[in-house]
Amino acid sequence: MQEIDLRSDTVTQPTAAMRQAMYEAELGDDVYGEDPTVNRLEALAAERMGKEAALLVSSGTMGNLVSLLTHCGRGDEIIMGDKAHTFVSEAGGVSALGGIHVRTVPNLDDGMPDLAAMERAIRAENIHFPRTRALTIENTHNFCGGAVLSVEQMASVKRLAELRGLVVHLDGARIFNAAVALGVPVSDLAAQVDSVQFCLSKGLSAPVGSIIAGSADFIQGARRNRKIVGGGMRQAGIIAAAGIVALEQMVERLAEDHENAYRLALGLAEIPGIVIEPDKVKTNILFFGVEGDGVETTEVAAALTERGVLLAQTDPTRFRAVTHYGITAEDIDEALVRIAEAMRELAN
Ligand SMILES: *Cc1c(COP(=O)(O)O)cnc(C)c1O
Repeated sequence: MQEIDLRSDTVTQPTAAMRQAMYEAELGDDVYGEDPTVNRLEALAAERMGKEAALLVSSGTMGNLVSLLTHCGRGDEIIMGDKAHTFVSEAGGVSALGGIHVRTVPNLDDGMPDLAAMERAIRAENIHFPRTRALTIENTHNFCGGAVLSVEQMASVKRLAELRGLVVHLDGARIFNAAVALGVPVSDLAAQVDSVQFCLSKGLSAPVGSIIAGSADFIQGARRNRKIVGGGMRQAGIIAAAGIVALEQMVERLAEDHENAYRLALGLAEIPGIVIEPDKVKTNILFFGVEGDGVETTEVAAALTERGVLLAQTDPTRFRAVTHYGITAEDIDEALVRIAEAMRELAN
């Protein structure tokens, strides 16, 4: 039985073109700025984002951490939605390592932080208060089911930040999914923020790596902070070579992942005992619940694992499924057959 792994788009394997590019990559010491392949990736990424400069880092977590270390000093405050990946799933790194004070506001279902609450949360100048320095947003929004923020929604955050003298950081781990779903150039989204982090290693299928992009000054500061957290890598062109292929060959096809996620959502909606709103599925991530007397997610997860369908159990009541490179429409149909079977068995 073939396994269908829908836990995350991080399980994607590098493509044949990536392995070839890695094998052939010209290398140098990137801490000296001498790796030609890293330099090429950073220039390409900056161009795609419409920013002055970009920096390769080893993960999305490092990208957000280094960006926020660069914007904020110890005791400064950042404001973000309470479902932000940086708040929920990055081990509190900005506080642990940066002494940055994180303040959350409610996250709306559409992926936006409650903007009025964000505005109220911005501190007045007063020696009792931490200084608010940055607002952060996430696009697409992981824990809001891959929700997409429009250019206009992002612009509303930018306007607020400008009015109050703050910077905006975008956790754009899946910013290319957002751009493809909206049908806009990714630079239109990046133009709404001062800094952006995106992952090469998720839907774009590279084995390792994230990029941060922003002004030349910001990236110069970020380069130092990357060194501080031990993220200066030497012949990193091995990684960057795959990143170049990711940007050149793997962006357009994300539309397929979105179609497959919607196909999965429509199919799940037909299965008794599964609770899902297919119309909320905009990109490659979907969440669903299970209902029924005595049906529990742990049992469902076990029954699915037995049938070779792997999902992420994100909390006691919900599952997350993520479509990605390597998952075809046929795999989705096969997963649906196995999920329906498992649900039937558990209902009996
Ligand atoms: C995955 C993810 C990250 C972190 O990326 P890693 O490479 O796993 O560290 C950050 N933000 C969001 C929204 C993510 O989905």
